[in-house]
Amino acid sequence: MTDSERHREVVVIGGGQAGLATGFYLRRTDLSWLILDDQAGPGGAWRRTWDSLRLFSPARFSSLPGWLMPGGADTYPTRDEAADYLARYETRYGFPVERPVHARAVTREEGIFRIATDGATWTADAVVSATGSWAHPVVPDVPGRETFLGVQIHSAEYRGPDAFAGRRVLVVGGGNSGAQVLAEVSRVADATWITLDEPRFLPDHVDGRYLFDQATEIYRAQKEGRPPPPPANLGDVVMVPPVREARDRGVLRAVRPFARMTERGVVWPDGRAEDVDAVIWCTGYRAALEHLRSLGLVDADGRVAVRGTRAVREPMLWLVGYGNWTGFASATLVAVGRSARATVDEIASALRPADVA
Ligand code: FAD
Repeated sequence: MTDSERHREVVVIGGGQAGLATGFYLRRTDLSWLILDDQAGPGGAWRRTWDSLRLFSPARFSSLPGWLMPGGADTYPTRDEAADYLARYETRYGFPVERPVHARAVTREEGIFRIATDGATWTADAVVSATGSWAHPVVPDVPGRETFLGVQIHSAEYRGPDAFAGRRVLVVGGGNSGAQVLAEVSRVADATWITLDEPRFLPDHVDGRYLFDQATEIYRAQKEGRPPPPPANLGDVVMVPPVREARDRGVLRAVRPFARMTERGVVWPDGRAEDVDAVIWCTGYRAALEHLRSLGLVDADGRVAVRGTRAVREPMLWLVGYGNWTGFASATLVAVGRSARATVDEIASALRPADVA
């Protein structure tokens, strides 16, 4: 392949749901584009989550633009169904995806981006970063953590409860991962849930549909030039069936964090030492932006300053799907389409100003 054959007007880095949603709108333009993804097959993060994970919104409310996820308004898709939907979505629209290709470093010279990968170097006029956060698990800096001789894993590596059967386990983290892992580990192990503050549960009837409604309302307000309504803050944990079942069993109670770790376990704030076999850190993720460090844009908080999805200090770079800082609920299937559409509108205006005028 020649250098010019490896040039596209737009290169999207990352082929998970955010990259595909961007592809959906790019496909409607006459821009040349392609997606680089470093996984062996389609599905993004859904290929890597734990075995029992179910989406917190029914299929109908978990869809990318253009094609509803099969399953209707009452079934909560499994991890495999979500991955399969993304694979079929990619095929349905015939997206140009190159994989496995890992983008190592993006640089810009004379108005052209160079995307160095673990294979060839690609060039582009505009870059969309859609690399998600699964590659970047976060574990807090707890004193003594490195001395602990038991098992420590992050929820990114957690596959199922069997390895913990009969053990004394601490599940750390008050979000959906923590609640769901606690719910299933507590069936086979002596498990304690540890959260910074009292966990905040959404009402039972509220699920991912609520995100859909909120995203719609915020989008409408922006289109009509009204100030968007602040997202209602109802709680963090979605009461999916396994979490409700854990509540009914009486195990959905959390205590505040231990003060430090020792070789054999933990020391609680009152000074009491306790032996434990394993700690599962369900403590979240940070955006996977290593490939953008070469542009000098990644701030101390691990993010790139954006207006909407466009990088403030690099106007031909966009970031899609990383969470509220790149668009309300943009890390979800249901809401990422809006960020993707706004992004492609901006790219088209930048690269084809005459068409838009
Ligand atoms: P990803 O799916 O991670 O895709 C990014 C892709 O880019 C991956 O294939 C990655 O390998 C690749 N990549 C990364 N870096 C590079 C690079 N340098 N070069 C090339 N490729 C690269 N969302 C919902 O919508 N509904 C739910 O019910 C839901 N439930 C969830 C439950 C839990 C417990 C968790 C943790 C998350 C849940 N999510 C849910 C969120 C969802 O899993 C993620 O937010 C989503 O997968 C993010 O999509 P993405 O496309 O941004 O990133």
